[in-house]
Amino acid sequence: MAIRPLVILPDPRLREKSEPVDAITDDIRALAQDMLDTMYDAPGIGLAAVQIGVMKRVVVMDLAKKDEERQPLVLINPRITWASEETSVYEEGCLSIPDYYEEVERPARVRVAYQTLEGETVEREADGLFATCVQHEIDHLDGVLFIDRLSRLKRERVTKKFAKAAKREAAG
Ligand SMILES: [Zn+2]
Repeated sequence: MAIRPLVILPDPRLREKSEPVDAITDDIRALAQDMLDTMYDAPGIGLAAVQIGVMKRVVVMDLAKKDEERQPLVLINPRITWASEETSVYEEGCLSIPDYYEEVERPARVRVAYQTLEGETVEREADGLFATCVQHEIDHLDGVLFIDRLSRLKRERVTKKFAKAAKREAAG
């Protein structure tokens, strides 16, 4: 169990495609646990492995409200198998783009297939915050960030801001 450092924009790893998990080993189980620890510590409601620098198709989520019991969810090799035409708009944020929030439009409902840590294949339908969050996390596995779904102007503005901050940090 360990909290790992987060990969922050403009780290180029955020733009790479993650590799499928071919076997659920102790390493993958330990990775999922570290991801949950890191996500709860941040705190966040979803995290992809690339966000702690591991290029594997693993996502963790927990959409429980503050006063509810934790509902950790681990998705191995998740993929969207169906998306509704109907869309919804949520304000999104990302642990790799700290303190930046914008409204993003995505399909309102999706079907997602994935393997559990027990190796079982599951397909379930998601709507509301679950649908938004799972699409955001699967995007990470393909090197896509939520800012890519904003207007060019907004995307360029936030990209510049984080590039400057990274330079300042490197200099100071
Ligand atoms: Zn994110």
